[in-house]
Amino acid sequence: MAKIVILGAGLGGVGCAYEMKEKARREDEVIVINDIDYYQFVPSHPWVLVGWRTREKVTIDLVAPMKKKGITFIVDAATKLDPDTKTIHCQSGRMVEYDYLVIATGPTLAYGAIEGLGPNAHTQSVCHIDHALQANDAFEKFCKNPGPIIVGAVQGASCYGPAYETVMIIDTELKRRKIRDKVKMTFVTAEPYIGHLGLDGVGDTKGLLESEMRNRHISWITNAKVTKITAGKMYIDEMATTKKVKQKHELDMSFSMMLPPFKGINALQNLDGLVNPAGFVFVNKNQYNDKYPEIYAIGVCIAIPPMGNSLVPVGVPKTGYMIESMAMAATDNIARVLRGGEADQEATWNAICLADFGDGGVAFIAKPQIPPRNVNTAFSGKTVHLGKIAFEKVFLNRLKRGKSSSAFENIATKILKVNKIKG
Ligand SMILES: Cc1cc2nc3c(=O)[nH]c(=O)nc-3n(C[C@H](O)[C@H](O)[C@H](O)COP(=O)(O)OP(=O)(O)OC[C@H]3O[C@@H](n4cnc5c(N)ncnc54)[C@H](O)[C@@H]3O)c2cc1C
Repeated sequence: MAKIVILGAGLGGVGCAYEMKEKARREDEVIVINDIDYYQFVPSHPWVLVGWRTREKVTIDLVAPMKKKGITFIVDAATKLDPDTKTIHCQSGRMVEYDYLVIATGPTLAYGAIEGLGPNAHTQSVCHIDHALQANDAFEKFCKNPGPIIVGAVQGASCYGPAYETVMIIDTELKRRKIRDKVKMTFVTAEPYIGHLGLDGVGDTKGLLESEMRNRHISWITNAKVTKITAGKMYIDEMATTKKVKQKHELDMSFSMMLPPFKGINALQNLDGLVNPAGFVFVNKNQYNDKYPEIYAIGVCIAIPPMGNSLVPVGVPKTGYMIESMAMAATDNIARVLRGGEADQEATWNAICLADFGDGGVAFIAKPQIPPRNVNTAFSGKTVHLGKIAFEKVFLNRLKRGKSSSAFENIATKILKVNKIKG
């Protein structure tokens, strides 16, 4: 019998656990450790910010489906991983030993990187449901007394799509409330150009997203290094080179949502050979760590080098489709090793993203995610908005019913087929 522990039950971890249970042998135990007892559908959080979704709509209880599936579900926070003794230490004092471990803990949100950043200071966030709900309260207050808005992603962020979604969705909602004319909107991003997305663009995301911004009267600052944020102001150095400032900006703001940089969780810091200096887990193309081959990692918690063509640090995003493929590869490999085989399966690392703008949207498909690519395409329209709503419903229903995780693969295949894209 083997003990297989999945640490983290987010977008990657839940699907991974369901999949592992189906692929493991009857005698193996699958254990999930998560610091909360529910799953939050992070891609819907920008909708929570403007009040289009409630907590109940975008979260599901995990206790019942895990039990039904025969997975041991432990609600506890890991405080330290000891890879040499194969033990996870938890906040409650519990220690959980494993034969195989899949780390799927997502990011720690590094608000401390910039003075004044984050929901405990002067900007809102959509990275966690609690933050998105707090942002909704702030947004409602803002709407009673509108002023300038700044939305974007700070230097070192590795997630850009939700910043575009948030700014466009806010624009749509302000128009519905008929107060858009009272609001100056600015998009501030570390990206070298609009639509870079940490991926050096996908298809014509530059043209499509710039055009959306122009149509909505949203101005932008790229190559932005945010130096400080106070109660009503954001201080930004727009860079000309990596060292030279092109222009200093001091923008007034009454409401702001800025995506923070990510780092690895505290329990994974300073583990030589397992993690990089930021605490992201090193994995090879088969999703396991070379020093500790019984440790696999999937999702935002893994180390991926940046693309390296920007003036300020821009991280590479880890999106749902690629995370799903990492979960597939990791579980296939553990199942093979359990049966005396080789851990030789690889994730596809493709990206499909539906960036919703509330009344339309931009979809992009990158196969593989890192260029050069076999499929490199982006398109816009109302179908993207409708597609995202449908996807949310399908995805959450599948998780509730304990279905494993081919949701992204299915939607990618459908989108490619409908749009007659080969790939
Ligand atoms: C606002 C936003 C919108 C996004 N929208 C999209 C989108 O539309 N499409 C797309 O493809 N991608 C999107 N992404 C990117 C990505 O798909 C998501 O971030 C996704 O949730 C990442 O999955 P994950 O499993 O790596 O991490 P998470 O989903 O963050 O899961 C990590 C889990 O680990 C748990 N955990 C953390 N620390 C501990 C600990 N110490 N002990 C125990 N458990 C712990 C957390 O509670 C959580 O349950 C979005 C990201 C953000 C931030």
